Amino acid sequence: MTGKSDVVATLSSAPPLAGVRSSSFAAMLAVITGINAVSLYVIFRALAAIAPADRAVIATTLWTVFGVLVVASMAGAWWLMRLRNRWRIAEAAAADRATRLTAEIATHRNTDAALQGARAAAEAANLAKSRYLVGVSHEIRSPLNAIYGYAQLLERGAGIAPEEAGGVIRRSSEHLTNIVDGLLDISRIESGVLKLNRDIVPLPAFLESLVEMFRVQAENKGLQFHYHPAANLPAFVRTDEKRLRQILINLLSNAIKYTPTGEASLTVRYRGLIAEFDVADTGIGIPATEIERIFEPFERGSADIARAQPGTGLGLAITRVLAQVMGGDVAVVSTPGVGSVFKLRLMLAEPGDAVAATARQRVISGYGGRRRTILLIDDDPAQLAVLQGLLRPLGFSVYAASNGPEGIDLALRCTPDLVLLDIQMPGLSGWDVAMRLRAVAADGDGAPVKILLVSANAHEFAAGGDGGAAHDGFVTKPVELEALLDAIAGQLCLDWLSDAATPADAVLSAADLAPAAARIAELRRLGQAGHIRGLEAALNALAEELPASRPLVDQLRSHVRAFDLGGFLRHLDAHG
Ligand code: ADP
Repeated sequence: MTGKSDVVATLSSAPPLAGVRSSSFAAMLAVITGINAVSLYVIFRALAAIAPADRAVIATTLWTVFGVLVVASMAGAWWLMRLRNRWRIAEAAAADRATRLTAEIATHRNTDAALQGARAAAEAANLAKSRYLVGVSHEIRSPLNAIYGYAQLLERGAGIAPEEAGGVIRRSSEHLTNIVDGLLDISRIESGVLKLNRDIVPLPAFLESLVEMFRVQAENKGLQFHYHPAANLPAFVRTDEKRLRQILINLLSNAIKYTPTGEASLTVRYRGLIAEFDVADTGIGIPATEIERIFEPFERGSADIARAQPGTGLGLAITRVLAQVMGGDVAVVSTPGVGSVFKLRLMLAEPGDAVAATARQRVISGYGGRRRTILLIDDDPAQLAVLQGLLRPLGFSVYAASNGPEGIDLALRCTPDLVLLDIQMPGLSGWDVAMRLRAVAADGDGAPVKILLVSANAHEFAAGGDGGAAHDGFVTKPVELEALLDAIAGQLCLDWLSDAATPADAVLSAADLAPAAARIAELRRLGQAGHIRGLEAALNALAEELPASRPLVDQLRSHVRAFDLGGFLRHLDAHG
């Protein structure tokens, strides 16, 4: 529409002779006039020959006719020129409009292509989301069905062995826990909530401990396990130890899980801050069509032999996203029936010497001043055991009660300096107990007891210690050793003593421990692998073999019971 109206506007607004070039006009006029002149001259000659006497009249008449013809020719030429001009303008406008239309069509084509692309991406995302949800519900439903089924059988007294039902329910619950943990891991990583630690990791020892763990697993399955570390591995690297362990455990356990016979191996290279880990096996392999798919959540191999193995299909998905957030990647090369090699590349920088040295921090092992009494009130026996194991070796008198009334009763008898009080307990809650303890102290003449509340629910947090509150401080569960010791020191105004000052350590030197060097190395390996039960057994063995090591064993054991393996290793390094 615009094109047409533009043309109309151009034509109607043009002046009468606008665009009519005078040279063309003159040329056309000259041609017409010339033709007229020649024609009239021919007529004059013919008429003059017929009537020579009227020659003058004929000439005058023909000159008049010539004049009229000149004027008519001028008008005709002007009209012709104007017509031609209009036609040219219309032609130019049409060409312009055609160009604009072509450009508009090209733009529409591009927009259409972009829209198609966006639609395809949205459909793919939708499909992936549906597949993911189907995967989640399928994975969750199977163990839930097992739990539900066995619970109903037990309810009906169907004569099923409780051990069998218990076993199925426990395994299904473990499977569910693994799925939930895996999903949380993935969403934490993808939403950027996961915070990576910058631990200083003794790489060779760390890898050795993993290799030991998997060598045993491989041998139990009749497989060989080989480890090829590069000679230039750095003594320490900076990375998130827990996540690096998680990645390698996923890859190594798959290598053993999907290898019925033959061998598995770990090869580690280190070049220019980049570590390359090859986890190879001679197992069932992965078809080319599945190579990319197995890194998606809940995708498992299609082969029956792969499906027969237990698994959630989340391991590789977690491994890949973790590797990526740690600045690396994981890829696989595989041949069905021959084996697979998973290649992990990670950026593992070496810390400076000074930083590596401070990795061996001083360890708190006691406090100055008179002996203090701490009362623990918690209905969870495991929590009581952990706290007792932690606090007793530091020189505290520790009393424990498993409910509020018992705790109040005990407080009257042991007059504690500090009470560590769980909030969620059956019967009297921690808040009620704290108020009663305050009331008891107010009735007596002793100094008011210090109360630290312990809770797994961060929303229950209330700072306390403001004079009006029933408590003096708050510690969250799971209890972090350093934070708890800080809180205790703050409440009781304690000065911590480091290893060097404790009598327990004074009796032991490195020379004293020399006969147990192999046992110490084993403890370090087990500590790095996080093998709690193995640690307990090895500590008992050390205390048997070398009675002089018992004070050290007690301190190490307290770290193990508090699941403080970092502290355990630092303590061990400081001595062994
Ligand atoms: P899961 O082992 O729980 O099934 P993963 O995400 O760890 O989940 O692995 C996904 C799939 O990749 C597995 O089901 C298996 O089919 C395949 N796979 C992983 N590692 C190997 C391997 N080393 N050899 C052969 N197949 C493997």
